[in-house]
Amino acid sequence: MSDAEALIDRIRRLEREARPLEPGAAERRAIRDVVVHHAEAFLERLPEAPAFEERADAARALARRVPSEGPAPLHELLELFRSAVEDTGLKPSSPGHLAYIPGGGLYASSLGDYLAAVTDEYAGIRFAGPGAVEMENVLLRWMAGLVGYPRDAAGNLTSGGSIANLVAVVAAREAHGLRAADVPGAVVYLTDQAHHSLEKALRIAGLGEAPRRRIATDARQRMDPDALQRSVDRDRAAGLRPWLVLASAGTTDVGAIDPLEAIGRVARSRGLWYHVDAAYGGFFALCPDVRERLRGIEASDSVVMDPHKGLFLPYGLGAVLVKDRAALHRAHRYSADYMQDAVDPGAQVPDSPAELSPELTKHFRGPRLWLPLLLYGVGPFRACLEEKLLLARYFHERVRELGFEVGPEPQLSVATFRWVPASGDPDAFNRSLVRAIHEDGRVFLSSTRVDGHFVLRVAALTFRTHLDTIDLALRILAEKVAELEAEGGA
Ligand SMILES: *Cc1c(COP(=O)(O)O)cnc(C)c1O
Repeated sequence: MSDAEALIDRIRRLEREARPLEPGAAERRAIRDVVVHHAEAFLERLPEAPAFEERADAARALARRVPSEGPAPLHELLELFRSAVEDTGLKPSSPGHLAYIPGGGLYASSLGDYLAAVTDEYAGIRFAGPGAVEMENVLLRWMAGLVGYPRDAAGNLTSGGSIANLVAVVAAREAHGLRAADVPGAVVYLTDQAHHSLEKALRIAGLGEAPRRRIATDARQRMDPDALQRSVDRDRAAGLRPWLVLASAGTTDVGAIDPLEAIGRVARSRGLWYHVDAAYGGFFALCPDVRERLRGIEASDSVVMDPHKGLFLPYGLGAVLVKDRAALHRAHRYSADYMQDAVDPGAQVPDSPAELSPELTKHFRGPRLWLPLLLYGVGPFRACLEEKLLLARYFHERVRELGFEVGPEPQLSVATFRWVPASGDPDAFNRSLVRAIHEDGRVFLSSTRVDGHFVLRVAALTFRTHLDTIDLALRILAEKVAELEAEGGA
């Protein structure tokens, strides 16, 4: 065998060895049917399955099955997936997931992801994936319309709200031309209810040393715009450089919506970049009731909203909108010799994700939102969000009737409450209560601190949560309080 023949021989052998990576139609069908069957069984179990089972031991079984040279049987892998992944910890797709900010995971999104993965379209640059980029931009323009942004606002579909906040903070930094030496005097304004991802974004963006002013809030945890104005003026008089205000449209803890219009007036008159974190509350703009309370959001410079919260998508989709396209572009533009074919030197308006975000090659995120949104239309999404607003109000009423002390009427779909026991420390009692609910597992609630008190919260946002789930949560709460009071009295 000549050298050339030996080379060809080796290439052919390797091609045969790699063949499992290219299944034919029959093989594709065989594995697809098994996986789809497995997913259907999951969905069938879901309504009755616990919302929470800790079972950390079961998750560790994954560590005993590491990649090896040879194949493993699909049914064994799916069984491990079930026992170690599906049945451990929180089930975010469960109707009983009433903690943090849930979403649920629309089934049609999984099919959108399937198409994105099968086609493997490149959504980074318009030249390579004109349709993929267009699809993402259509969705961003739709969101821009929802919050009253102009059609030419820029945006990006991100993996979630944290990265979306980071992208906005970096755009703000560039728009204000902040250099490292400016940072110690560049003041940021926010409340103690602002999401911690904003703090993290500031730190990652090199703004860790920028002074923060925690602006006072009212009894419903909303920023006081007069206090903001006084704080900005004081800082300016002291020779500092106020530049960024971070407002919330739906705080994670209690769903508080800051007075967006009034904050916008302060931001505009003082030349601040105005960012609104609407990761949780943004899509409630679909509901006429809330739309009114979001007025002023259109005056912001950047806004973040999370389809994996307010549009019920599976985890992995946030969005950021920036009114000034040039600011977003300045912060994220790129160039490299090997990309020279892909860059359109004539393009006046950069609109490729790679030029407007930190990513180059990325998940084609469009179809997971595009498919359900167009397939069902916006109507069912609006109805589902309105239902959640009413469920939170219903819960708030009923839990008060059960004798709980409640927080203010829910502004969105989060209600806070606590039990004040006849005797003993209320914080300790409510800590035991939340633990008892986690051990029970039928529904999953979380806790937080409001005004220094340990409180429980119910957040209605997965699309599968309906009246029966809320009634179940109320029954469980009544049961657990009775048990704990009996123990305490014993
Ligand atoms: C959830 C949330 C975030 C963070 O979003 P992720 O998608 O979890 O990264 C930021 N801000 C608010 C108000 C949120 O509710």
